[in-house]
Amino acid sequence: MSKVDVLGVQFDNYSEEEFRQKILAQFSEKKPTFVVTANPEIVMKARENQKLLQMINEADFVTPDGIGVIKAANMLQTPLSERVTGYDLFEFFMKQANRKEYRVYLVGAKPEVITAVNKKVQTKYPHIHLVGLKDGYFEESIEVVAEEIYQAKPDFVFAALGFPKQEQLLNLLKKLELPAVMMGVGGSFDVFSGQIKRAPKLFQKLHLEWLYRALRNPSRFKRLLIIPRFLKAVKKQVKANENTSH
Ligand code: UDP
Repeated sequence: MSKVDVLGVQFDNYSEEEFRQKILAQFSEKKPTFVVTANPEIVMKARENQKLLQMINEADFVTPDGIGVIKAANMLQTPLSERVTGYDLFEFFMKQANRKEYRVYLVGAKPEVITAVNKKVQTKYPHIHLVGLKDGYFEESIEVVAEEIYQAKPDFVFAALGFPKQEQLLNLLKKLELPAVMMGVGGSFDVFSGQIKRAPKLFQKLHLEWLYRALRNPSRFKRLLIIPRFLKAVKKQVKANENTSH
């Protein structure tokens, strides 16, 4: 099965390596490629807003970003291959862009973070052509920003504005038919710049990155409350499926 439905969001059932290759293949054909990395928080927000749900389901690729989505797919007896995070894909595509000297546009995060991101790109990925760098607290409309990005002719656009703003911006670029890989990466610039530390490997292995982040930044704790609501909704879906299959 190539699509897995979790509370209305249609996830692509690929391994991380398959996502990488399929996205690059589409890019090499010059097709506008919009990638959504959806976590439980995004699924819950999309459930409450038909327009957002439709926007996600019209994306070219939807990856399961978070162990919660993997658990949900198991509960629904339609398992997904593996967790594929925005941050890991971002790192992979940046490496690729460096190797191939691609044009990259980065938009999002606080001004001091984007400045630190710029420095890090210069040292870590010196062959990348940074054709745009913009913090995520702009006053213009996303239509104006989309046009600005379009004019810069990037091969890759990474938007770190949080959901749904980043996806709305990328969706506009997709409609403008920008022949690029366009991906929302949430808080990735904060991590990449060193502003926020990624969880130690042990936390990553145990799929407890969310816990590490919440411990370091208690204001995130209330966002975790979404998880029990998410699991409750999945259980309800499991029951509904059982009833229709009998
Ligand atoms: N952000 C932004 N503009 C805004 C709101 C948020 O650039 O108007 C940035 C924020 O600075 C952070 C990122 O968007 O770098 C979202 O981070 P969050 O931790 O919410 O994302 P997650 O990874 O949880 O989706």
